[in-house]
Amino acid sequence: MTIRILPPELAAKIAAGEVVERPASVVKELIENSIDAGATDIKVEIREGGIRLIRVADDGCGIPANEVPLAFARHATSKIRSADDLERISTLGFRGEALASIAAVSRLTLQTRAEGEDVGSQIRLEGGEIVRQGAYGIHKGTVVTVENIFYNVPARRKFLRRPQTEGGHIHRIVTLYALAYPEIRFTLISDGHRSFQSTGDGELFGVLAQVFGLETAKKMIQVSGEEDGIRVDGYVGVPSLHRGDRTRIILFLNRRLIRDSKISYAVIQAYHTFLPVGRFPIAVLFLKMDPAKVDVNVHPTKAEARFREPGKAFRAVQRTIRDALVENSPIPEIAPDVWKSEAIPSAEQAILPPKPPPAVDVQLPMDLPAGGTETPLVPREPESPPRWHEPETTERREEEAPASEKLPPLRVVGQVATTYIVAEGPDGLYLIDQHAAHERILYEQMMRERAAGAVASQGLLQPVSVDFDPLDVAVVAENLESLKKLGFELEPFGENTFLLRSVPTVLQKQDPAQALAEVARGLAQGKNLVEKEREEALIRIVCKRAAVKGGQVLSYKEMEALVRQLENTRSPRTCPHGRPTVLVVSANSLEKLFGRRM
Ligand code: ADP
Ligand code: MG
Repeated sequence: MTIRILPPELAAKIAAGEVVERPASVVKELIENSIDAGATDIKVEIREGGIRLIRVADDGCGIPANEVPLAFARHATSKIRSADDLERISTLGFRGEALASIAAVSRLTLQTRAEGEDVGSQIRLEGGEIVRQGAYGIHKGTVVTVENIFYNVPARRKFLRRPQTEGGHIHRIVTLYALAYPEIRFTLISDGHRSFQSTGDGELFGVLAQVFGLETAKKMIQVSGEEDGIRVDGYVGVPSLHRGDRTRIILFLNRRLIRDSKISYAVIQAYHTFLPVGRFPIAVLFLKMDPAKVDVNVHPTKAEARFREPGKAFRAVQRTIRDALVENSPIPEIAPDVWKSEAIPSAEQAILPPKPPPAVDVQLPMDLPAGGTETPLVPREPESPPRWHEPETTERREEEAPASEKLPPLRVVGQVATTYIVAEGPDGLYLIDQHAAHERILYEQMMRERAAGAVASQGLLQPVSVDFDPLDVAVVAENLESLKKLGFELEPFGENTFLLRSVPTVLQKQDPAQALAEVARGLAQGKNLVEKEREEALIRIVCKRAAVKGGQVLSYKEMEALVRQLENTRSPRTCPHGRPTVLVVSANSLEKLFGRRM
């Protein structure tokens, strides 16, 4: 086959494909141009999900009449001049491709009047060819109208989804930019109906409430921090606000919307042990850093960025959010109106009973402190097999966190269903899951001990010989050092047998052989984890086993002790697996439930 240079219209269509994927990409490019033009009011109008028509009108600086045709030439931009400028980009656009690309695959009309010019101008292009051009009366600013996207690229047109779906993508883009630029007023009109409008008053929280709804916005915590020259600001959801996917982790870098799986993962990591496994947080984050330290020119639509030092950005994000969560997350509340509603998003499911909870007997403390018998906390069989969780890389930070009040002072009232401790506190009635609470206490205790060198261990009066499943023997043999650090001292004693000499102190009331067998199984499952993560997962297994179980009667004294110890932990509100340890029914809710107040 002969090599030929493609005709310019064809080359333009191919190039356009990189920038214009669907109607929402057109909206994104046009909004970015309006923002770069200094607009304070941006109005987006669409018909049929943008497939028929997209119109973006702004009150920005406009384009001087003599430069209008030039704006549609490929690589024509007013935003950078030299390669040096590429190193410090402060505008959203700089590639000079958007208008050329959009014009190549649609019928486009642009009307504009630049600051200081008496009359405006208008230009019309079809498939990238200028078909009309002239003077036009218009107020200062620019209006771009894009009709029949992909009318001349049938292959692309075929891939467009239903107008509703395409319109949904546009809605997302407009609302996201409204979040990033609260000082700009954004309006979206879809088929004649206003579907979104922000006030442009500069208040991020207001936009947040419009985008996510007031109830959700109220459950978001403001975060703000700086590390290694990277500023992180924004709002993140409280742990009870989790979702089934990561689409609500929204990232802006120097006010540009980006996708970045590593930074998203940093956000998820910050919630480690706060969220149930497989659930994701909500976050709107603004990263700010020296533009020279990040390359935004790695993707045609600039949706991705390359950090010069990705680890630093990761840490800044993870720590800023973690600190805010540890400081601020409220105790999940059982509120009466939520019991009635079935339209609660899955986010709440983990903490809310689907229907009013069945009546249970409140068991009043029989043995009060004075006469209390000291029943040791002897756990029974583990409730479920040990599970592996994502690595915790944050304990150092938690250690540093100020020991500020994270649980209010609680007065123990009794035990319900031999599983929950009932307590009274400033906000009303508190329920504490005794097993989850004890797990949290033991976990922090063991992590502290490990950080200090080694976990406290208890020698056995007589060494116990433990037989392992042949599959587990090899991993046990390979991990004798790690096991020793965690308090298990053992030595080989025959083919599949080891002699166990000591166990972690927290396990002293347990059957040592069974506990070790369980840890060995955990080791075998966690073979692929790095040492530190494996050890932490093992600590979680040990704690799960050592913690007092549900179904076990506790004396008043024991409950008191448990609650005091929980108060002293760094993250008292969740167990190491991310489930809540405490729920609250506020006095307010009680009044409503009893019909004392509406
Ligand atoms: P880029 O944004 O990368 O510079 P575009 O193709 O998007 O490239 O736009 C080309 C040029 O047209 C811009 O550099 C700018 O000078 C001008 N322009 C585009 N849209 C607007 C607008 N809404 N207001 C003012 N000028 C605009
Ligand atoms: Mg642009």
